[in-house]
Amino acid sequence: MESSIALNRDIFTRALHVLPGGVSSPIRSWKELPLSPFVPARGKGAQLVDIEGKIYIDYCMSFGALILGHAHPKPSLAAAGALMRGSTYGLTTATEVQLAEFIVKHTFCEQVRFVSSGTEALSTIIRIARGVTKRPLVVKFEGNYHGHIDALLLEAGSYASELTATPSAGITRSSVCDTIALPYNDEEAACRVFSSPELASRIALVLIEPVAGNMGVVPAKLSFLEYLRKQTRTIGALLCFDEVISGFRVHPQGASGLYGVIPDLVAYGKIVGGGFPAACVGGSKTIMEELAPLGEVFQAGTLSGNPVALAAGAATLQEIFQPGTYEKLEAKTAFLLDPIERILQDTPHSLVRVGSMFSLFFYEKYPRKKPAFLPKSRTAFAQFFQELLQEGIYFSPALTESQFVSMAHTEQDLLKTRDVLIEALSRLDV
Ligand code: PLP
Repeated sequence: MESSIALNRDIFTRALHVLPGGVSSPIRSWKELPLSPFVPARGKGAQLVDIEGKIYIDYCMSFGALILGHAHPKPSLAAAGALMRGSTYGLTTATEVQLAEFIVKHTFCEQVRFVSSGTEALSTIIRIARGVTKRPLVVKFEGNYHGHIDALLLEAGSYASELTATPSAGITRSSVCDTIALPYNDEEAACRVFSSPELASRIALVLIEPVAGNMGVVPAKLSFLEYLRKQTRTIGALLCFDEVISGFRVHPQGASGLYGVIPDLVAYGKIVGGGFPAACVGGSKTIMEELAPLGEVFQAGTLSGNPVALAAGAATLQEIFQPGTYEKLEAKTAFLLDPIERILQDTPHSLVRVGSMFSLFFYEKYPRKKPAFLPKSRTAFAQFFQELLQEGIYFSPALTESQFVSMAHTEQDLLKTRDVLIEALSRLDV
């Protein structure tokens, strides 16, 4: 046991020598926590096993990518089959057409363009919006994260909000001078911008996470989304929902289905790639055909629409669109969280959930904009996270990140988690 305990640490120590911060993406460093990350060896269903053999029930689920859980046979076999036929061709494949048809059938999109990451999807969306409207400005919201694009890191959520050099060292003022960041869910602040003729006539795009998942889970108010929909039409700007997390998660039609508000453009990621690097941009035919080769908005990618990734994505979507899946996911999440919500009612803490995504806020009650994340919230989270980890429950390792219930979580997993959560919460100061 003693020697195995060194293993996670050994690997991560080696990682620190050859990977900046030991990671390929900063949130994985557990920087807010007084311990270093474990090293996963494999996953199956809701379980993640580290290289020392310790088993965790996983609620990070690769930050929401794995709605079916780890190594689900359907996407795994689909990806393996695609891989054995060839990993990439540089040509449109039948799988690509099949997945695009599926998305078009089930969402408001008439066409999609596949890319390899959410970041790429959002950078394409800015360009489409500017190309279509011939205007420069992008309006975004504080605490929303849209990938690591220069222009969108202004007041961004997720790990970007931890930096002191905001929006990030290496970003020039000119890269963000056409971005306006407004408080989330704040109609008055948005109204000040939309009612300024000089600003309104220069806005190309209003971009929002309709269910924010990178400042904990903070859902937009329906009235706020409706307001943005109306105002963007009035001023001639495009509205985009960043559904990289919420797409195919909070509702079969994502947040636009949940709220009944239809944007002009959408970004899907995570679930759409079934655990592989894939994402897409979607919208009406008229807007999407502005993209090259039909239009003048250039966008390209060697591995875009990768057949292995899209085979996994297609298999995942087919599986979650089986009748009753979203109802089951909802029931699992309610089973886990309803008692916790009741317990937290009379405390300074809160739990927010939308469908199967949720987060706990320490010393914050149901935030409607970017939470303060006070030092005492951070201390409480660190204590809570470690207690959970000790009991074999793995939560996303930062206050800004969401937690995800997958189809693979069993009643036993959820019961155990519930007990551990209740115990850990009872030890917090109130
Ligand atoms: N948009 C949202 C809402 C996200 O949560 C993320 C990543 O977490 C992105 C965009 C960027 O996606 P990717 O990490 O695939 O580049």
